[in-house]
Amino acid sequence: MTPVLRSYVRGSWHSPTDEGRPLFDAVTGKEVARISSAGIDMAAVLDHGRRVGGPALRELTFHQRAALLKALAGHLREHREALYEVSARTGATLYDSKFDVDGGIGVLFAYASKAKREMPNDTVYVDGDVEPLSRGGTFAGQHVATSLRGVAVQVNAFNFPVWGPLEKFAPAFIAGVPTVVKPASPTAFLTARLAELIVESEILPEGTFQLVSGSVGDMFDHLTEQDLVSFTGSASTAAKLRTHPGIVGRSVRFSAEADSLNMSVLGPDAGPGTPEFDLYVKQLTTEMTVKAGQKCTAIRRAFVPAEHVDAVVEAVSARLATTTVGNPATARMGALASLEQREEVRRSVKALRDAGRIVFGDPEHVELEDADAERGAFVSPMLLTADPDRAEPHEVEAFGPVSTVLPYTSTEQLIDFAARGQGSLAGSVVTADTSFARDVVLGVAPWHGRVLVLNSVDAKESTGHGSPMPQLVHGGPGRAGGGEEMGGIRGVLHHMQRTAVQGDPDTLTAITGRWVAGSQRNQTDVHPFRKHLEELSIGDTVVAGPRLVTQEDVEHFAEFTGDTFYAHMDAEAAAANPLFGERVAHGYLIVSLAAGLFVDPDPGPVLANFGVDRLRFLTPVKFGDSLTVTLTCKQVTPRDTADYGEVRWDADVTRQDGESVARYDVLTLVAKKEK
Ligand code: NAP
Repeated sequence: MTPVLRSYVRGSWHSPTDEGRPLFDAVTGKEVARISSAGIDMAAVLDHGRRVGGPALRELTFHQRAALLKALAGHLREHREALYEVSARTGATLYDSKFDVDGGIGVLFAYASKAKREMPNDTVYVDGDVEPLSRGGTFAGQHVATSLRGVAVQVNAFNFPVWGPLEKFAPAFIAGVPTVVKPASPTAFLTARLAELIVESEILPEGTFQLVSGSVGDMFDHLTEQDLVSFTGSASTAAKLRTHPGIVGRSVRFSAEADSLNMSVLGPDAGPGTPEFDLYVKQLTTEMTVKAGQKCTAIRRAFVPAEHVDAVVEAVSARLATTTVGNPATARMGALASLEQREEVRRSVKALRDAGRIVFGDPEHVELEDADAERGAFVSPMLLTADPDRAEPHEVEAFGPVSTVLPYTSTEQLIDFAARGQGSLAGSVVTADTSFARDVVLGVAPWHGRVLVLNSVDAKESTGHGSPMPQLVHGGPGRAGGGEEMGGIRGVLHHMQRTAVQGDPDTLTAITGRWVAGSQRNQTDVHPFRKHLEELSIGDTVVAGPRLVTQEDVEHFAEFTGDTFYAHMDAEAAAANPLFGERVAHGYLIVSLAAGLFVDPDPGPVLANFGVDRLRFLTPVKFGDSLTVTLTCKQVTPRDTADYGEVRWDADVTRQDGESVARYDVLTLVAKKEK
């Protein structure tokens, strides 16, 4: 008998208590494994995540979680051949397998690096700026994001057995929320292999990753308001789960990535003979055949100016004719994930045919290379043309190597057709005409999560229509589910609760770990630049000045730098300037003089100044004004993998009357004492 897939729950591998149901090799039709979740106590799985995984994760800072994610990505990369091997049994060619496996590993790397760069080395995320809420400055507000105390339940689709789980796991893990993965059954044997690699690596804290192979049983009945469900799959299952009493009754955060009728537009400028025409044809063919068209982002609707329909059909058909189908080890296009899926595709093509006709391919027949048409889930790529005024092309998703070419005659009509998809994940516009691109992108954007503009300038480096990027939103409105997986730090924040905290500046400083204007400052005899990273406290301050600003200073700076802008050098012209009325000092001179005032020049723990943030010149500085600078330690961010960390300083440059003339954050690198 074939092996029964195990689940990894509550810290150990669980074998089902029944025989399970069979899963089949998509190429040979042979039984690969059996699947069942019988005997798993779903309430206990959730509880394990909340009680064991959650606290372990929340003990780590965002940076420490990022380091583990990166280590996991490295481990999986080392063992990816093992995943490719199993992936072939899902019908995938090596190219398809790399798309799934390497794509998923890439998401882990991307999140690790973004978390390190864009999040603090802390467990609370400060979201946006302090909002002043009072005249006297004693009352302010600050949004903070904290980890939800529940579990992220991730229900995935069959078509990306590796990327699917990893793209959801990464943001949840960085956010400090443990994951329970539930793969789609047909390809769950590949996700189970991935889970083995993850568990064997011993990189993740216990309870932060669990796998349920088979049905989720009564899991949804045990969800709480702190849990999340991220679903990927068909729109019909999404609708069912979204309205589950366990979700609705407790307002569980539910996001869905469902099927969508993605579109690609050929611009009117991009007729035969242009580079854009060739790009359009190539992209459409690729989207039809990679993963045998089983990509949620694949192009289903190909909008083409009416006069170019014949040329597009001819060119795409010619390319499809050279695409070999069969044994994924050698052919260009492999099999669908299962025989049921093939039946599903045939049913959908039948519905699409009611609105048009097949111009390439045959749903019942395909020439195969080294494969068995009866046992393997093979199907021919199929190109159709149809009447765009019919509903079917905008509503029927044939989840396989199937696209429909639809004519359009004006931009307005095109935008109207695009909207008939009722919400899509990805669209593309292939054009060299930037004003057409603007009209289409802004016209279709409300129905799309992502839009790619492709032309001869970006084609070589473009990541393509079908690839969601971890840095960018993946999800779409309406039929596409209304979810936002990934999307960089947005994806992380989705797993956290945003809370508006209101209070006095000292309390806000204590809560956020960032100095808030109006909080106490500590002025001691030791200059803060003499302190190592561990010795610095939030609020450590140096006040330096006053420094008189003279006409000679301004002229010297102007000559020296070449910045002889009239407002600094020409009295008459400056007088006519409505903002100044007379000659004023350069803003950059003020910043430079301030640095000259606050700096402690001798070698010490401060290694470098790596920039300024949020610089604003607030009031003009005139000749004879004198400047004082107050520099306050605002935030200290140790780097776990370096002998130094980042220190953000609040700089406030004031005039003799106390008015602020410039405010900004100074960014420095400061050495640790303990190396
Ligand atoms: P599906 O049949 O809707 O199944 C999706 C997942 O839901 C599977 O894990 C399935 O588990 C589970 N499921 C089904 N009924 C359930 C229930 N009553 N309670 C709990 N879980 C349940 O979709 P699929 O056939 O796997 O995937 C194909 C579809 O996914 C396509 O339409 C495609 O467009 C869409 N998709 C969308 C994206 C995206 O990012 N938007 C990505 C990939 C795929 P079992 O398999 O065990 O039944």
